[in-house]
Amino acid sequence: MKMRWCWRCQMEVPMLNEEEFTKAKELYGKASKWRVGELKVKERFNPLLEYYNELTAWNETEPNAIMHHGMEQYGADCPNCSKPLRTKKARYCAACGFGKDDFKDQQTKPLMERRKELFSKK
Ligand SMILES: [Zn+2]
Ligand SMILES: [Zn+2]
Repeated sequence: MKMRWCWRCQMEVPMLNEEEFTKAKELYGKASKWRVGELKVKERFNPLLEYYNELTAWNETEPNAIMHHGMEQYGADCPNCSKPLRTKKARYCAACGFGKDDFKDQQTKPLMERRKELFSKK
């Protein structure tokens, strides 16, 4: 888990690593399998919310928000503004415009491939 900027929430949120996110997806899948009306939606998703909130010391109440808080969905942090690239294939940073200078046309490679050296540090 790592605090990272979330594009949808417009704030820093706890992003789950691959292993943590896999577990979250499992819990989400289980909760979705209940037949409608069997349990209140809130109760069905409690195990997921509990898992996430215990892991992150957060206070998330919206199960769907958790499902976009997996690091694997985003690119690396922008070397300039440190917000994550929206996707691994992003051609430039949508937040600060970093990489736009050498972004020429639709054929341009994603920023993470084009400027590999900037993303090699952990
Ligand atoms: Zn979010
Ligand atoms: Zn940026």
